[in-house]
Amino acid sequence: MSRRAVVIGGSLAGMLAAAALFRSMDEVIVLERDELPDRPSPRKRIPQARHAHILLPSGRDAIRELLPVANVHGRLLASGAREQSMTDMLGFGPQGWYGRWATVTEDLLLTCCSRDLLDWTLRDAVLGTTPVRVRRAEALSLLGTAERVTGVRVLSEGLQEDLRADLVVDASGRGSRAEHWLEALGVTDIPTDEVDSGLVCASRVFRVPRGAEDFPLTQIEADPATSRPGRSGTLVPIEDGRWLVTLAGTRGGEPSPRPEAFTDFALGLRHPLIGRLISAAEPLGEVFLSRSTRNRRRDFEKAAMPEGLVVLGDAVATFNPVHGQGMSVAALGAQALSRQLRQTDVTAPGFARDVQRAAARSVSAAYTVSTSQDQWFPEVVGRAPTLSDRLISQYLGRMARVATTSYTVSAARCKVLTLQADPSRLLHSELLMATLKGPGTEPQAGPPLTFEESAFVESVGPLAV
Ligand SMILES: Cc1cc2nc3c(=O)[nH]c(=O)nc-3n(C[C@H](O)[C@H](O)[C@H](O)COP(=O)(O)OP(=O)(O)OC[C@H]3O[C@@H](n4cnc5c(N)ncnc54)[C@H](O)[C@@H]3O)c2cc1C
Repeated sequence: MSRRAVVIGGSLAGMLAAAALFRSMDEVIVLERDELPDRPSPRKRIPQARHAHILLPSGRDAIRELLPVANVHGRLLASGAREQSMTDMLGFGPQGWYGRWATVTEDLLLTCCSRDLLDWTLRDAVLGTTPVRVRRAEALSLLGTAERVTGVRVLSEGLQEDLRADLVVDASGRGSRAEHWLEALGVTDIPTDEVDSGLVCASRVFRVPRGAEDFPLTQIEADPATSRPGRSGTLVPIEDGRWLVTLAGTRGGEPSPRPEAFTDFALGLRHPLIGRLISAAEPLGEVFLSRSTRNRRRDFEKAAMPEGLVVLGDAVATFNPVHGQGMSVAALGAQALSRQLRQTDVTAPGFARDVQRAAARSVSAAYTVSTSQDQWFPEVVGRAPTLSDRLISQYLGRMARVATTSYTVSAARCKVLTLQADPSRLLHSELLMATLKGPGTEPQAGPPLTFEESAFVESVGPLAV
């Protein structure tokens, strides 16, 4: 009998899972309940696409490994995506302005474009270079037993149908019904953890004003140590000469959906730079809000999961989006699936469990990065910091201070934040010594602007805090 994989969800995790599977299966069907546009444009079931979406180098590299011929990254750049070195962006952290260094290494390059462009480019690459098929249908439940999943019940054009599958991948996003579906098969007790700072994101697109065409990615971070709601902002240069600006506030400090309040919120951040920049820019649309921001993980790898089912992407875990990790975790999960397929047959006992375990590594790393900050904001739901959390936080704060003036420490820290190194790396002896020694100099008092950037900022108003 021919071997078939069914992937639930045709977004980022689903398309990449399909790319991982097509060489090993006779047939790969992606089920998607939304209509998929044939150009980069918003779609109903991905409302988060209205907000800043940065692709980390770990995600870029995983996509490259999964689709070596399709050149997804090259196509993104050709469509206007920008690359930004993490150590040459404008970043105001809790400890001050991060320095900027001209050294450019591939492993610290972020990819900046709209989520619509990224999704469409990826989908076009998968459907154009592989035999993967998308079917417009909604997955209703899993077929099989607590020992083995054997397919999916789907609703398509008003009719229910049972689709047999040797492997089912649930990539249906944060609204995944996997726990409920598994419960119906008799699989319960999936460990879950949640840390919710009540973050709300508000985003708006602007036309880049003349003179600011090369302005870099700019980020004003929240300070979790102040016992006040955390407010932050990110300005991302995207294709077609636009800035996508996402402002965010934790419980008690949320941004408003009113367009007239947007710039004021940005001006009221810990530094007014983003507010000044957008006060000179033409808005290109309305303000969009998102409250889908809590950290939540489901440890499927620790449960007695049936054979034949793997869960990937946001269906496993979601993170505070400020850290820009979700898409890369989804890509690394698909990479784990692909690597396991190179070693074991999809029908081999334990195959799904091994994939789930391998995928959990990047989930854990991202979750640690994200929750270690969020747990400090007021009225956070889900976790109170322990004594060891306090010690780690003091250490990381000191390291962030050192990173403002040391390229070596900044780059090492970025490798962890971008999921290219395990968080335990931050305790490596070299970094430990540099952190304990403290910063050699004070961080720069104002944003480290180039001559051209400075000239533009001066033309739009004072920067005094
Ligand atoms: C405000 C915000 C900003 C973010 N910024 C970043 C960022 O900067 N960088 C980053 O890496 N990540 C970011 N993220 C996270 C990112 O959006 C997600 O991690 C990513 O979309 C996960 O992809 P996914 O394929 O798992 O899920 P999704 O993209 O949510 O896709 C799920 C798909 O499954 C389909 N589906 C659902 N149920 C069914 C069903 N029963 N049958 C058939 N189809 C179904 C849906 O229609 C959808 O197409 C952000 C998130 C938010 C909310």
